[in-house]
Amino acid sequence: MPISDRRDFLKFLAAGSVMSSAGLSPGMAFGQNGPHVVIIGGGTGGATAAKYLKMGDATIRVTVIETNQVYRRCYGSNEVLNGQFGIEDITITYDALQGKYGVEFIFDTVVGVDPQTRRITLKSGDKLGYDRLIVSPGIDFIWDGVDGYSEEVARQAMAHSWKAGEQTLLLRRQISDMPDGGTMIIVPPVNPYRCPPGPYERASLLAEVFQKEKPKAKILILDPKDGFAKDQPFMLGWNRMYVFQIPETKMDGMPDDISIFDTPGMIEWVSGSAGGTVEAVDAAAMTVTTEFGDTIHGDVINFIPPQKAAKLAFDMDLVDGNWCPINHLTMESTRHANIHVIGDSCIADVMPKSGYSANTQAKVVAAQILHLLRDEEPEEPTWANVCFSRVSSEYGVSVGGIYRLDHETGQIISTKGAGGVSPLNASHQFNRLEALYQEAWMENFVADSFG
Ligand SMILES: Cc1cc2nc3c(=O)[nH]c(=O)nc-3n(C[C@H](O)[C@H](O)[C@H](O)COP(=O)(O)OP(=O)(O)OC[C@H]3O[C@@H](n4cnc5c(N)ncnc54)[C@H](O)[C@@H]3O)c2cc1C
Repeated sequence: MPISDRRDFLKFLAAGSVMSSAGLSPGMAFGQNGPHVVIIGGGTGGATAAKYLKMGDATIRVTVIETNQVYRRCYGSNEVLNGQFGIEDITITYDALQGKYGVEFIFDTVVGVDPQTRRITLKSGDKLGYDRLIVSPGIDFIWDGVDGYSEEVARQAMAHSWKAGEQTLLLRRQISDMPDGGTMIIVPPVNPYRCPPGPYERASLLAEVFQKEKPKAKILILDPKDGFAKDQPFMLGWNRMYVFQIPETKMDGMPDDISIFDTPGMIEWVSGSAGGTVEAVDAAAMTVTTEFGDTIHGDVINFIPPQKAAKLAFDMDLVDGNWCPINHLTMESTRHANIHVIGDSCIADVMPKSGYSANTQAKVVAAQILHLLRDEEPEEPTWANVCFSRVSSEYGVSVGGIYRLDHETGQIISTKGAGGVSPLNASHQFNRLEALYQEAWMENFVADSFG
């Protein structure tokens, strides 16, 4: 299909997220005693890598070590919060990876890896060797950044709902119980974090149900940042749908037809410069206190903590600071040989921490590992990302990009002219289509990664 404009590009990306790496070129099969690639983490990155390794060469032994028997995906979890999906709709089994592709699974938790002897130790005490190891363990939270906040507070009172499962259900219950006229406070984290547009999509989807079910409710976003992914298209949509006052700093390029309101509507966004940074919380009083000293009560407080690479990455000495540095050509750790890090845990420069990114990084790493195992040169990698978000069920916005390696700096950079953000002068039909692409993307993406 020739791709002539941004709309074609989005349609293409929504269709199957296949654009990454030069592809799994057929090579010499290894036969009976093929090499053993072990993957830690059966989330989006790990599952995709397992599938594409086996598709590239079925004679390779691929083992995934995953703590949980099923995967609860985060994409779609905002739709559990608004009641569109049940938790079962975002629960994925590993049946297809095992049955269709012959990926082996060990349901256990990795507690240590010795990169010298290439031995993995599991919580059960079992040990396992590998030829190459892929690590895609996701994120963990920085609990001690804000006074009064802790893992316990998240579990009892102020759910983050940034890992899907129990937290999603807790926040869902709290939102359902919130009275009409109540205030929900959303506190997004500082960059970098998993799914940059996620908190704002959450606000949008909840505003849509509140309009019908709790029309006097308010969503107050207290943000430590002065901007966020797709902020202008989001704000334009909020202005059109939820009586949102667009701040002066975001007015540049806005179409003439935006409305100016005297009082805030259902969604209010307070930037870091305007006093949005939360410095303390009080779980008993259900309040947050901002950097400017304002103490605000919330009936529901969705505090999303700052993030870092998953604990395992720290235990394995794969981090520099909070995230894992890698050689971007092969996605191999710069700290330990034969260990590749992908997904949210790795430093992927301009690529956002998203499922889509994890998926294309997985395809790149699968291709490169096949080459390395055959003593071939790695191929030229390319990566892609598109994040669709819905401002309402009929109004979508997106941001997308194609990425390549800058061989001079070793960094992942954006390909000029590819991708971009939804235009502010888009027609109603365009935004409607973007909402449809989001739905199509989710279905295709799950099938591509796990099916
Ligand atoms: C609300 C929300 C909405 C989102 N929406 C989108 C979206 O629309 N589009 C998009 O592209 N992305 C979206 N994302 C982001 C996406 O979910 C993540 O970027 C993606 O899951 C990252 O994949 P990963 O493989 O790095 O980590 P995960 O998918 O989190 O997988 C990590 C896995 O590793 C396992 N693990 C960790 N440690 C160990 C250990 N020691 N031993 C064994 N197993 C272990 C975990 O159990 C887990 O299954 C969203 C995120 C949120 C929070």
